[in-house]
Amino acid sequence: MERFRVEVIAKTSNPQQVVYAAMHQDYSEGFVIDEREHWPSEEKCGELIVKHLLAGDRGHYGPLEHPSIVFNCGYFPHSVMQQVRTHRVGISFDVQSNRYTGARIVQAAMGLKDIEEVFYLRPVGYYNDRHGKRYEYTKEQRERDLAWCLEAAKRYQQLLAEGVSEEHARGIIPFDVRQHWVMSVNARSLMHLLDLRWKADAQLEAQKLCDAIWPHFQSWMPAVADWYFKNRAKKSRLAP
Ligand SMILES: Cc1cc2nc3c(=O)[nH]c(=O)nc-3n(C[C@H](O)[C@H](O)[C@H](O)COP(=O)(O)OP(=O)(O)OC[C@H]3O[C@@H](n4cnc5c(N)ncnc54)[C@H](O)[C@@H]3O)c2cc1C
Repeated sequence: MERFRVEVIAKTSNPQQVVYAAMHQDYSEGFVIDEREHWPSEEKCGELIVKHLLAGDRGHYGPLEHPSIVFNCGYFPHSVMQQVRTHRVGISFDVQSNRYTGARIVQAAMGLKDIEEVFYLRPVGYYNDRHGKRYEYTKEQRERDLAWCLEAAKRYQQLLAEGVSEEHARGIIPFDVRQHWVMSVNARSLMHLLDLRWKADAQLEAQKLCDAIWPHFQSWMPAVADWYFKNRAKKSRLAP
């Protein structure tokens, strides 16, 4: 079971109006907040910003940088965290580092926690290698790899019992230990993240992170998400 989770901690409450206000200030003589009671509804602002900022790919994306959303991403393999953390513009992270925590690994070693809750292994099935060649990841291979994870957890437990620090002992744990993080991102950077990590050649589990982000984006900024889905989603349309 994959167990991946993406939950929303906080978000700008009227994101499409915020984008509208920023866009409107660009060409307004007055101070836009003073006209707040005349701003169109959140829904109407969605239509307006799609029409004036997004349709036609004019590149006027700055107003989309004002609203932001804070996600709690959980149970993803370390490799996904590493890849998502390469994004640095308009996005900020706090990641469980395994320098201070390791109790869950010890609990898995003791049989108190399911080993699969601590380490991620791909499901049994067919995959492609980087040359496009298909191969099968079998039940037997997966069971063997799970046993390896359990063995590593036991060795980790032994090191901690011998007085070794978590920061030191983490060096022997399998690469795809599951990790949790908090990630705040503005709407423009969120679309860029989806551009790069939702496309077919992104790591499968990074695509799953995007699958889990998607419904939150859709309910947060429906008009923008709808435009994104029709025009950019999974199309490898990359910003420069
Ligand atoms: C399929 C795939 C495979 C990858 N493989 C590897 C790999 O093997 N090894 C590896 O190290 N990385 C790899 N990467 C990471 C990639 O090189 C980028 O670092 C990562 O995707 C972050 O995206 P970004 O540069 O668009 O940064 P973001 O922070 O998302 O930046 C947004 C945009 O801001 C601009 N920008 C940001 N920083 C700069 C800058 N310093 N200078 C100029 N403009 C900037 C760019 O226009 C950029 O697109 C891979 C990415 C993908 C999608």
